[in-house]
Amino acid sequence: MGTRIILSFLFMSCVVCAEAVKVASLHPLLSEMARRVGGDDVVEVVNLFPANAELHSFQPSGQELMAAAGCPLLLACGKGMEPYLAALQQSVGKKTRILELGASIPDVLVPGSNVPDPHWWNSPRNMARASLVLAGALTPLLPAEQAAAIAQRQQKYAKSMEKLERTARLRLARQPAAQRALVCSHAAMCHFCAAFGWEPIPVLGIAAESQGDMASLATLLKQLRERHVTCLYTERRESPKFMQNLANSLGASIRPLIMDGIAPDFPSYEAMFLFNLDSLCPPSHHAESLSEPADKTSSSNAKKQLHHSP
Ligand SMILES: [Zn+2]
Repeated sequence: MGTRIILSFLFMSCVVCAEAVKVASLHPLLSEMARRVGGDDVVEVVNLFPANAELHSFQPSGQELMAAAGCPLLLACGKGMEPYLAALQQSVGKKTRILELGASIPDVLVPGSNVPDPHWWNSPRNMARASLVLAGALTPLLPAEQAAAIAQRQQKYAKSMEKLERTARLRLARQPAAQRALVCSHAAMCHFCAAFGWEPIPVLGIAAESQGDMASLATLLKQLRERHVTCLYTERRESPKFMQNLANSLGASIRPLIMDGIAPDFPSYEAMFLFNLDSLCPPSHHAESLSEPADKTSSSNAKKQLHHSP
């Protein structure tokens, strides 16, 4: 009888071992990272960010938090992107560790301010760095024999980010130095610009819905005219009227970028990043042979969506 109980216990233990560890995530790009680093059979990712929600106003509902119940790990962007994290920790309880992956990334300040840009994912190097932190958090949650596989998948992920960085460096360097200014609607591309030696000129604040400072409009126009800016960038799914008016005043065009990383129709980080790269350096403006596209579909997708006239 005793032997039977012990065998039953061992069997149950093995079943538990075989179950995937649930990891919740507050951003689709972190969800994708967790799937790629953790592996489908080992980690079950619970993506709490609904398709088409707005990043800067999103807060998980009670229903979404139910889905995260019992997750030992919950991934957040950090850097102030989720001001509700203290309350969230109380809701999910102490057994769930909230890991702010952005905490491992050096700050890049929004120009003319002391405010760090929280959109750290716009640099592939930052994603590689965050994936190492994620692997370190996942490993103790899994059976010891999974450690090597996690390390291997993290290295593969980091290499894909390094490849993307090399591709971007080659393509962006072809832009004349005087034109390496990224005039965007909200302050979301500072990490990108820091990585590739461009100058970020955010017109609005951190969030796209921030109001433009009309008092400094004349100064801004003067600055952009002096820089011979011919193109402004807005979040792909938005086109603030302020930016349209600015583009009209300058005789500039408007192109889309996926700055908040929310793009349910793009299957991977690589696809999203290459969409942005195509928008910044349209394929007709560079030698295709220089690019190392990780996902060739992104280029054609970008072409379809680039021509957003104001
Ligand atoms: Zn944003």
